[in-house]
Amino acid sequence: MENCIFCNILAGKIPASKVYEDGEMLVFKDIAPVAKIHLLCIPKEHFKLLSEMDAGRAALVGRMLQTIAEHAPAWGLEGGYRLVVNQGEAAGQTVPHLHIHILGGETLPWG
Ligand code: AMP
Repeated sequence: MENCIFCNILAGKIPASKVYEDGEMLVFKDIAPVAKIHLLCIPKEHFKLLSEMDAGRAALVGRMLQTIAEHAPAWGLEGGYRLVVNQGEAAGQTVPHLHIHILGGETLPWG
């Protein structure tokens, strides 16, 4: 997707601070962190919403969650972390490419 920021990061046209990459996903630092540690996990395949998942994409999102869980301690998140997936404009989704926010590195407020 030409106009998608995250597709341009994947294509190497926009720099990013990468912490993990494999054949189907990338994890990198959010440019405007809202927690001490704020990472984004994105699929290499472009789609915007969880409602666009088919069985293959659902399995991919499952592997993204598994990868996050496996690597979280190495990313400084051994004390725990929060995952956020904004869906649509009303939720504040600004980038139309599915992404999982990974927040932690501190005690996070709730409510
Ligand atoms: P959302 O509001 O859920 O769509 O989240 C989009 C996130 O992408 C925001 O937290 C932004 O700070 C982040 N972001 C936007 N552009 C970049 C970029 N070039 N590199 C890293 N993070 C970005």
